[in-house]
Amino acid sequence: MAYKITSQCISCNLCDSVCPTGAIKVEGTRHWIDPELCTNCVGSIYTVPQCKAGCPTCDGCIKETNDYWESWFAKYNCVIRKLTKKQDYWERWFDCYSKKFSEQMQKHQGEILGV
Ligand code: SF4
Ligand code: SF4
Repeated sequence: MAYKITSQCISCNLCDSVCPTGAIKVEGTRHWIDPELCTNCVGSIYTVPQCKAGCPTCDGCIKETNDYWESWFAKYNCVIRKLTKKQDYWERWFDCYSKKFSEQMQKHQGEILGV
């Protein structure tokens, strides 16, 4: 997830009405961004994140996470999803990689132990 809503939110609901993916969630007066739904607006008709652009607190409460790699990966993942048209690209890649890695480890251990 690249963006999060901080405690400076004034609960105006504007972000909820402009988000193209329905990622803004509201619990009581608390607003938060569902990382499973937020695409950072990548792949939509917009060129900037709509929640951040429209927020009336003037850059006050929708912030990019401080974690550079988390933010980088979220954007990269969105692009990969769009290019491959597969929502679970990384899960499948990781499953395949883990399986192959495990097979190689077992083979290597077998060679060391002579079995
Ligand atoms: S960045 Fe875009 S997709 Fe993500 S919560 Fe904001 S408006 Fe929605
Ligand atoms: S637009 Fe900004 S102030 Fe309004 S609900 Fe969303 S995060 Fe809060």
